[in-house]
Amino acid sequence: MITLKESERLKQLPPYLFVEIDRLKREALRSGTDVIDLGVGDPDRPTLAHIVEALYQSSLDPRNHRYALDAGLPQLRQTIAKWMKARFGVTLDPDEEILPLIGSKEGIAHMPLAFVNPGDVVLVPDPGYPPYRSAAIFAGGIPYSIPLLEGNGYFPDLEAVDLQMVRRAKLLYLNYPNNPTAATAEKNDLKRAVDFCLKRNILICHDAAYSEITYDGYRAPSIFEVEGARACAVEFHSLSKTHNMTGWRIGFAAGDRSFIGALAKVKANIDSGIFQAVQFAGIAALEGGQEHVDESNRIYEERRNVLVDGLNRAGWSVPKPKATFYVWAPVPPGYTSNELAQMLLKKAGVVTTPGVGFGAHGEGYVRMALTVSMERLEEAVERIRKMRGS
Ligand SMILES: *Cc1c(COP(=O)(O)O)cnc(C)c1O
Repeated sequence: MITLKESERLKQLPPYLFVEIDRLKREALRSGTDVIDLGVGDPDRPTLAHIVEALYQSSLDPRNHRYALDAGLPQLRQTIAKWMKARFGVTLDPDEEILPLIGSKEGIAHMPLAFVNPGDVVLVPDPGYPPYRSAAIFAGGIPYSIPLLEGNGYFPDLEAVDLQMVRRAKLLYLNYPNNPTAATAEKNDLKRAVDFCLKRNILICHDAAYSEITYDGYRAPSIFEVEGARACAVEFHSLSKTHNMTGWRIGFAAGDRSFIGALAKVKANIDSGIFQAVQFAGIAALEGGQEHVDESNRIYEERRNVLVDGLNRAGWSVPKPKATFYVWAPVPPGYTSNELAQMLLKKAGVVTTPGVGFGAHGEGYVRMALTVSMERLEEAVERIRKMRGS
């Protein structure tokens, strides 16, 4: 056996903080506990038949068995451009301002390689989706946490960020509707970030993975609906959560050609595009009509009401999100998020995600995903009610 040490960049990755809860979950499953898993943000329902059918038909065509174009099929890019126009009123050039991705995580993770030099700072929301931080590290950059606080509606106060760090910053990750807090941002919030980044010469990487999962008539904006955003932002979209396609790996980046072109250059040296049959399936999903998305949202909304109303009745005051399929629940005094998650698993057989795993400012909360059936959520509420003795 040769002796190789893992690279410095791997050593710099933050410790994986879900170890203990993962272990307890495996242990509970092994011992035959009826576990209700609200931990994983992965839709439980299958991909719709018309999308699967598009994959099947396209997979029969030998023309799709070859390497795909790095830039994606023109037809896919045109469909995406049409969707962005219809959904947000945003006009993008399908040839140079849209880049299909092997899942949006792929583009999110590769973006710093396009713009970050060793020692540059990347501003990352805390709590936040863990790849923002790792991506900065992989590019030799320094991730710098900007707190998302309940009192600010979980939108960062950019004016309060250490000026030294702002001066060194190249990228700022934002994510609305937000994982894990389920917070939404209005156009005036995004406008403040855009103005800040225009002044400070920082590229906003807006992760819009949950833009379509909204309730109570709320519609999430694209950052490009904000004046000035074209000059300082890219936006990442995903088909994963909206269309129950997490395993398929398809998403896209949108924005000015100078930003998108640089990401395309990185990707041309790393991957060779998305399997074309999956691209045709993506077209089917985007063209499939709003009614499917509405139907899916009705299901999550019903589940959200069952869980949140049930927990509130049980005396646990939990806010009702108007977007994403997460519930961000405050931890009662006397517990850490890890302790609460462990107790919920041991005493109620309910898996939740401790907020601290998303960053230090996630402490004080646990995240619950609405990706199990209504009956299971009712059961979870009942068990938690019993556990609390209320
Ligand atoms: C799920 C998720 C993604 C990744 O989605 P893919 O397109 O499947 O890679 C990106 N950002 C956030 C915040 C997510 O929760």
